[in-house]
Amino acid sequence: MKIRTDFVTNSSSSSFICEICKYETSGYDMSLSEAGMVCCENGHIFCEEHLLLPSRDELIKRAKKRNKIDNSHVRFLSDLDILYTWIIENGSHYDIPQEYCPICQMTCCTETDMLKYLLKEAHLDEEAILKTWKKRFGNYDKLKEYLLEKKDES
Ligand SMILES: [Zn+2]
Ligand SMILES: [Zn+2]
Repeated sequence: MKIRTDFVTNSSSSSFICEICKYETSGYDMSLSEAGMVCCENGHIFCEEHLLLPSRDELIKRAKKRNKIDNSHVRFLSDLDILYTWIIENGSHYDIPQEYCPICQMTCCTETDMLKYLLKEAHLDEEAILKTWKKRFGNYDKLKEYLLEKKDES
């Protein structure tokens, strides 16, 4: 049995946030796999369940190719077993190839990327935005009001 105390000074608390659904989990010395998350080769961190996995047939084919499973196993495997077989096949929860990452495949995007893109397209930076806000809204309450306004009201 593993006993952990909260008083050990060298244990560190780690936390992981899914960049796709914003699910957050934390624990002492928690690893990415314990958090149920993966990290793609571009550094995107997200829940295992968001992985863009190949079809069940394709996963089985690949696992067979590497002699990890044979025909007698296949019919007993659930989709979840196959998912884990695949993650183990990949070697780790890190450096997941881009083809399995929804962010890399542009089926969804992060707020950070969206913000960076919009700033670049609009030729804006933090300084310019703050200057505009001060001139246009004067105080934070007015800005908040504007941001909460529905699009079609003006
Ligand atoms: Zn998630
Ligand atoms: Zn990615």
